[in-house]
Amino acid sequence: MNQSHQWKKNMEEQNIRKALVDGNQRFLKGANSAIEKSMEAIKETSKHGQKPFAIVLTCSDSRVVPEYIFDMPIGSFFTIRTAGEALSMDTIGSIEYAYLHLHVSYLLILSHTNCGAVGAALEKNGENAELKELIDEIKARIKSTKDYAEAVKINGHEAGVEAKKAEAGLLVDEAVYDISNGKVSFIS
Ligand SMILES: [Zn+2]
Repeated sequence: MNQSHQWKKNMEEQNIRKALVDGNQRFLKGANSAIEKSMEAIKETSKHGQKPFAIVLTCSDSRVVPEYIFDMPIGSFFTIRTAGEALSMDTIGSIEYAYLHLHVSYLLILSHTNCGAVGAALEKNGENAELKELIDEIKARIKSTKDYAEAVKINGHEAGVEAKKAEAGLLVDEAVYDISNGKVSFIS
C-alpha cells in the first residue's frame, strides 16, 4: 500500500470512529433519529442497494443492538453476530464478502460488559460439541486471564487480530459496550 492510500485509509478510520462516537452520544441523550428515518432508509437502500460504511462483529446478546446504540439508520452496518464474537470460517467469509464485494474496510469489533460467552469461558466447558468449540475458541483467546472485564477486552482484541490475519486490508477498531448504561468506549 502506498503512502497516500494509507493516509486515506487512516482518515477514513478516524472519520468513521467519530461518526460512531457522535451517534452513541445521541443515543445516550435519548435520540431516535435513526428510527425516525427508517422508511426513508428502506426506500433508499432497496432502490440503490446497500452501502454500509462499517462491518460490525459483535455478540448475539439481545442487549447489544448496533443500529440503536450508534443511532444509525438501516443500511449503515454489515453486522455479524455470534456469541462472544467467535469466528468460524463462515463468519470470516461474511467479513470478506463485505470487504471484497461491498468495499467496506472498517471493521468494528464490538464486545460488551457481562458477556455470557466470555463468562462461560472463564468458568466452564461447553455442554456439547458445538458449544465446546465456541467456548474453547474464547478460552484460547483469553488464556490465563481471570478478570471478567479484562477477558471481555482481550477476547474482542483477539477477534480483531484473527480477522486481520484473514484480510490484511481491514481497518480494525475495537470498542466495549456497557450494557448497564448504553455507553460505548473505544479502546486506544
Ligand atoms: Zn456476549
